[in-house]
Amino acid sequence: MKTTKLKAYGASTNTADLELMEIDRREVGANDVKIDILYCGICHSDIHQVRNDWKNSKYPVVPGHEIIGRVVELGSEVTKYKQGDLVGVGCMVDSCKNCDSCHQDLEQFCINGATFTYNSPDKHLGGHTFGGYSTGVTVNQDFVLKIPENIDARGAAPLLCAGITTFSPLNHWNVKKGDKVGIVGLGGLGHMGVKFANAMGAHVVMITTSPNKAEDAKRLGAHEVLISKDQEQMSAHANSFDFILNTVPVGHDINPYVNLLKIDATMVLVGAVEPLGSVNGGGLIMGRKRVAGSLIGGIKETQEMLDFCGEHNITSDVEMVNMQDVNNAFERVVAADVKYRFVIDMESLKN
Ligand code: NAP
Ligand code: ZN
Repeated sequence: MKTTKLKAYGASTNTADLELMEIDRREVGANDVKIDILYCGICHSDIHQVRNDWKNSKYPVVPGHEIIGRVVELGSEVTKYKQGDLVGVGCMVDSCKNCDSCHQDLEQFCINGATFTYNSPDKHLGGHTFGGYSTGVTVNQDFVLKIPENIDARGAAPLLCAGITTFSPLNHWNVKKGDKVGIVGLGGLGHMGVKFANAMGAHVVMITTSPNKAEDAKRLGAHEVLISKDQEQMSAHANSFDFILNTVPVGHDINPYVNLLKIDATMVLVGAVEPLGSVNGGGLIMGRKRVAGSLIGGIKETQEMLDFCGEHNITSDVEMVNMQDVNNAFERVVAADVKYRFVIDMESLKN
């Protein structure tokens, strides 16, 4: 298969910094769109994968699944896009399209394995897929999203992962006007969760370990701020939440958050994939409470989320960085020191 060499940033081992490398991208097939990448967000998952936190990384890892770019070339059968369109690519670039999950527009749960944007087996070139920390990418048109032209393209990048990962559970669990909704963790995901829950009409409570983020939380749309380390405040909110979205990126004690749920209410985990420590059965039994999980969202719902952002003028609050500063940006994400998503300006890699 014909390929082109492109510049990218990737890590060669789980302890290495990201560095400049060259990767192969396929030339467009009949259903492919070739995208010139303008911006790519930095998700905490990029760091987990570069550092092999989930024990499934393949090296080199070229991360990046919050991609915004312009269409520069189209395959002969592409009907959904034209040259120059502003488009996005999120966490997936393909799936089997034939299984129950795919038929339900839940490609992220494809029974035969979705092809994730990086670190998945590459069906075309062999080896594994490479993400958006690169100057370009070739993607099947069915996994390309339309970006509303009225929203800022930089701030749109994080919608492709942080946006859909928070929109999907709020949407699936029918968060509505007047619900009391808690968002745990004010990072990339959390700040989008606050914006969406607010736009859906909920009474939004930011639940944070960082008192210094309280003012920002309110500016982003939280009606109240709850400091999770403050026992008194936590007790005052016990048994009062209709829904909680938990974005904490590491294993942690979830019992204090379960205590916050009302009867029949649900907390959805999207961050920690590792063991969570012991869960107090009584805390769930006394109140018929539920703890659930959620993974990004399907392509159809991702487009719905983007259209919702166009209508409500929602974007991510971003700090732009050059590709060469990515390792420092990673350190700051791990230190919970980002307001509230880093986005790489890919122009810095093209010079
Ligand atoms: P992030 O920007 O680092 O934000 C995480 C926030 O969680 C931090 O800002 C901090 O907020 C809080 N936090 C950090 N460590 C904590 C701890 N030990 N205890 C309590 N709170 C803590 O990360 P992100 O990009 O939003 O991603 C969050 C997680 O979601 C990551 O694990 C990522 O891999 C995962 N993820 C999952 C999906 C999915 O589909 N399920 C998709 C994308 C990402 P405060 O300072 O406010 O406490
Ligand atoms: Zn992500």
